[in-house]
Amino acid sequence: MCGVVGVVLPDRGHEAAAVAATALFALQHRGQESAGVGVSDGSHLMIYKDLGMVGTVLDERRIPSLSGDLAVAHCRYSTTGSTVWENAQPTLRLGPRRALAIGHNGNLVNTRELLEQLEGGRGRLPASTDTELLTALLADEPAADTVDALRRVLPRVRGAYSLVVLDERRVIGVRDPHGFRPLVLGRLPAPGGVEVSPGLWGDDTAGWILASETAALDIVGATFIRDVEPGEIVVLEPGREPVSVRYAAATPALCVFELIYFARPDSYMEGRSLYEARRRMGMQLAGEHPVEADLVMPVPDTGAPAAAGFAEASGVPYREGLVRNRYSGRTFIQPSQAMRQRGVNVKLNPLRETVRDRRLIVVDDSIVRGNTTKQIVGLLRRAGAREVHLRISAPPIYHPCFYGIDTAIETELIAATHAIDEIREFVGADSLGYLSVGGVLAALDLPYDRFCFACFDGNYPEPVPYDAGSRKFILETTGGLGR
Ligand code: SF4
Repeated sequence: MCGVVGVVLPDRGHEAAAVAATALFALQHRGQESAGVGVSDGSHLMIYKDLGMVGTVLDERRIPSLSGDLAVAHCRYSTTGSTVWENAQPTLRLGPRRALAIGHNGNLVNTRELLEQLEGGRGRLPASTDTELLTALLADEPAADTVDALRRVLPRVRGAYSLVVLDERRVIGVRDPHGFRPLVLGRLPAPGGVEVSPGLWGDDTAGWILASETAALDIVGATFIRDVEPGEIVVLEPGREPVSVRYAAATPALCVFELIYFARPDSYMEGRSLYEARRRMGMQLAGEHPVEADLVMPVPDTGAPAAAGFAEASGVPYREGLVRNRYSGRTFIQPSQAMRQRGVNVKLNPLRETVRDRRLIVVDDSIVRGNTTKQIVGLLRRAGAREVHLRISAPPIYHPCFYGIDTAIETELIAATHAIDEIREFVGADSLGYLSVGGVLAALDLPYDRFCFACFDGNYPEPVPYDAGSRKFILETTGGLGR
């Protein structure tokens, strides 16, 4: 996961950092371990980053000191490297040829190979993330220009990367040739009554913004222009129209889990409202796994659109039966198993009057290890539920993700090691039904070959190394930060 933002906003009193931090706030769900902003005033780069949530790290006392017309921002969910300050982003490297700050959403799969290409090896990296390694390779590249450096280095890089790159003069957006992770381009209009420098862009355009999701554009009043294409570099520079540079042929494989679960329901991807897509997944699920019951309820918050669709298609009334503590993080996104297990009790509380003596259809968007689901079913049973029928608006997860989602290794994935009925028994449900891959596609009304479905069907768009157990800490076990 991770959320990234890039902003070019000239002649607006160095507001770029404030706009980037505000947009990043809308991407908090994508990563809660650390946050940071990098700025350039046209000649110098500076970053500020820390462990913690966006609102805490980038508060109003901090932002005014981050002065510049160009900014990138990042919130982190770790898939390579521990949760330590050094690994927070943006990265910063002040090299002899260029200064760079980078925010990265995704995960590289040839990190070991790339490390061998770094002059001086692991000892030159101040942190243990694949992003730090990529930043070092780009800063070392003897091309005169950052875009040329990207064009030379990126063909050697494999895996998932949606990047926001800041040098002294530009913000650059990059999406890997598969486009595993989203990245959109938006236009920042001048607020009503505010004069824009004549000749800057010739209309009321005050600046440009890149962001992981369209919801981040909405929050700062930006207009969606288009997706950054897989295999494309988009260069944003004050006074110039965005420039597109293609560095690789596109072989699209957007992570379908972004549409099922990860991204915000008020975001749009592939021209689809994610709320509507998830509602239709719930309708498909009702068709594939009907059951007699008294109520349909979501596991909040992410199960809600699919539960609404299930209720609509089945005619079973929709009711909320679990209340979520809105100040707790998303269980799935916490970095350790122990935190995940602790999370659910502080997060969810059943509404006893609703649940007691009722036959419930409980709709959730995924089962990874099964522990969280087991606790939810336990909560509902203790609150007096007569029957609990689990319906999952995604197919079973059989394979790990190597492209930026920490879905656990194969042996920890319950569907990889148990039959559906064994999973049902483990979580304590009366029945269990998953949406099929065909059902997901029917709900999206898009073809299979636009997406990555690898964690469901093992069809990896980019070949992956199989040293699954140690891949997250690859740059630490080779002599980096101790853990
Ligand atoms: S393996 Fe699964 S989670 Fe990872 S990118 Fe593909 S669909 Fe998304």
